[in-house]
Amino acid sequence: MTAEIINGKEIAAKKRQEIGKEVEKLKEKGVVPGLAVILVGNNDASRTYVRNKQKACQELGMHSVLIEMPEEVSEEELLAKIDELNHASEIHGILVQLPIPKHIDEKKVIESISPSKDVDGFHPVNIGRMMTGQNAFLPCTPYGIMVLLEETGISPAGKHVVVVGRSNIVGKPVGQLMLNHNATVTYCHSKTKDLKQYTKQADIVVSAVGIANFIKADHIKEGAVVIDVGMNRNEAGKLCGDVDFEEVKEKAGYITPVPKGVGPMTITMLMYNTVKSAAESINR
Ligand code: NDP
Repeated sequence: MTAEIINGKEIAAKKRQEIGKEVEKLKEKGVVPGLAVILVGNNDASRTYVRNKQKACQELGMHSVLIEMPEEVSEEELLAKIDELNHASEIHGILVQLPIPKHIDEKKVIESISPSKDVDGFHPVNIGRMMTGQNAFLPCTPYGIMVLLEETGISPAGKHVVVVGRSNIVGKPVGQLMLNHNATVTYCHSKTKDLKQYTKQADIVVSAVGIANFIKADHIKEGAVVIDVGMNRNEAGKLCGDVDFEEVKEKAGYITPVPKGVGPMTITMLMYNTVKSAAESINR
């Protein structure tokens, strides 16, 4: 069996068109969705991510603000800036690009963002709302994965989903969203004994580990759906996922490539969340 490729780039483009239409409707009502991104320090990868987020805002006709702070900025100054943005009416989404320097408490920073502007979906209030099935900002990468499945016509209901990785930003929330969609969910991580025993039972495998070529053909069952969240560099320095794509695509039913799989969905859902926040601000 050769897997059908889930084209994240195409699905993201379709979603961005829909988001663009929502932006137009909001502008007619006098609201321009605005995203503020705070970048602390001089991490090259972070700078690239931030640039891509700003570009996406511009392409959709949204307002975007970049606030750059030096590596040595104090926690107090950063929290004061977030407080200012929490009260700024033209800003509907606030994002602090992670990682931030070690001398600043990341949890405190995340919790200082107003839940109503937490478009990354990292605030405990939004995580709690997600867990209890209430209206929430869903974390962008897990949400993007759900949209990829939906757009491909794959329902998680009744399926066995095995999530490899349990980070707060990907593994844990993607498992929760699958559960919310009536899947049976198994979480695996670095302490799991005999990983294959679990992944081989999965109808859907989501890998969010961060190790190139980690998932091989003998990890999965024939016809399974394989979602590769990993963003790694191989020996040649080329971007690759966690999954040995060439090998696994001959056995899977569906597979996401890297690049052009999950990646393009993350920024798309960030735009979606910012527009959702702008729309909700009208009724507040
Ligand atoms: P983390 O490093 O926070 O988490 C990695 C997870 O993998 C941990 O839960 C860890 O287990 C688990 N793990 C590590 N080694 C093994 C192993 N040998 N067997 C089983 N599980 C293992 O990473 P993130 O969740 O932040 O990111 C994961 C990957 O996804 C990275 O490559 C990252 O770059 C990528 N990513 C991609 C995004 C996108 O937009 N496409 C967005 C975010 C991330 P334990 O908890 O026990 O340590």
